[in-house]
Amino acid sequence: MVPVRYALNVNENTHPIPESVARDIVERLAHAVLTVNRYPDREFTALRESLAAYLGHGITAEQVWAANGSNEIIQQTLQAFGGPGRSALGFPPTYSMHPIIAAGTGTTWVTADRDVDYTISSETAVAAIEAHRPDLVFFCAPNNPTGTSLPLEAIEAAYEATDGIVFVDEAYAEFMPADAPSALTLLPGRERLLISRTMSKAFALAGARLGYLAADPAVADALRLVRLPYHLSALTQAASLAALAHAPEMLAMVDDIAAQRDRLLLELPQLGYRAFDSQANFVLFEGLDDPGATFRALLERDILIRDVGIPGALRVTAGTAEETGFFLRSLADLGPRGAH
Ligand SMILES: *Cc1c(COP(=O)(O)O)cnc(C)c1O
Repeated sequence: MVPVRYALNVNENTHPIPESVARDIVERLAHAVLTVNRYPDREFTALRESLAAYLGHGITAEQVWAANGSNEIIQQTLQAFGGPGRSALGFPPTYSMHPIIAAGTGTTWVTADRDVDYTISSETAVAAIEAHRPDLVFFCAPNNPTGTSLPLEAIEAAYEATDGIVFVDEAYAEFMPADAPSALTLLPGRERLLISRTMSKAFALAGARLGYLAADPAVADALRLVRLPYHLSALTQAASLAALAHAPEMLAMVDDIAAQRDRLLLELPQLGYRAFDSQANFVLFEGLDDPGATFRALLERDILIRDVGIPGALRVTAGTAEETGFFLRSLADLGPRGAH
C-alpha cells in the first residue's frame, strides 16, 4: 500500500506499533467480533471514560466525544454549529481540511492573515473576529503545515471576543514540549471552547480512525443530534480501548520523533534552508528555487514529502532516525536551494 520507501508526507507516526500491543488489539477485536451481530454501544461509554482518563486535567467522560477520526469531529462540529448562513474563521496557511469540511456542510469559510513567522497574537485574533463576526473560530495548535505554536492568551482573547464556538485542533499535542500547556487547561468555565485530538499521529493509529474532543457536556449533547446512529463501530471502540490501555508503549516513540524533528530544525539551516520553528512531528522549510522540482527529485529517490503550496517551501514529516537521515542526505545531494 505504501507507494514509496520513505513516506514522509502526511505526518503519520512512521514507527509501527509494538507487536505485543498489536497482539492485545487483535485479542480484543476477536472478543468484540463474537457480539458483532449486535449494534455497538452507541454511547461508547468505556471509550469515553478511557479517553477522559488519558487526557487528565480533571476531564470527565461526559466532556468527551469521539468519532471516526478528528475529521469527523470537525464535520459533526460544523453540522451542529455551522451550516448555511453561518461562517467559520481560519488563519491560513492551516489544516487544509478545515475549509473543505466547512464547504461540505454549507458553512462560509472566512480567513484572516497571520503575523510574522505564521504566529497569531491576541490582537490579530481579536481583530479578525471583530472584522468577520464568525459563528466558529478554528485554530490549529501546533499549526499544520507550519508547526507554529499558539499562545494560550490568543485563545483566551479570541474566546472573549466572540460569543460563538472556539475550536482548537490539537492533533499534534503529544509532540509539544513538556512545558508547553495544552488548551485543555482553559476548559473550566468556557462552555464554547472545543479541543480536538486524534489517535492518528502520536498514537500511531491512523488506520483505525479515532478522533475525539473535550468540551462542555452540552457540546457532546449537540453532537448527539447530528451524528449517525451507532457511528463508532464495535471494532473501532475495541481497537481504540486496547491501544489506550497501552498508552505508554504507544507513545514511547514520541520523544524519538521529537528528537528527529529537532534534528531537522538544526540540520536544515546547515544546508542553507530556513526551517520554521515546529512543535509538531514535521518541519516546514523554505529557500527552495523550485519546490515542485525538488519534490520530484526526492520522489525519484523514493522519498515522498509534501508541497503545501507555500512559495519556496516544502513540508517534511520527522521519521525514524534512518528515514530522517536519508532525507537530509538526499536533500544535500540535490545541491543548494534544492537545485539538482
Ligand atoms: C492529521 C491531522 C488531523 C487528523 O485527522 P484524523 O481524521 O484524526 O486522522 C487532524 N487535524 C490536523 C491539523 C491534522 O494535521
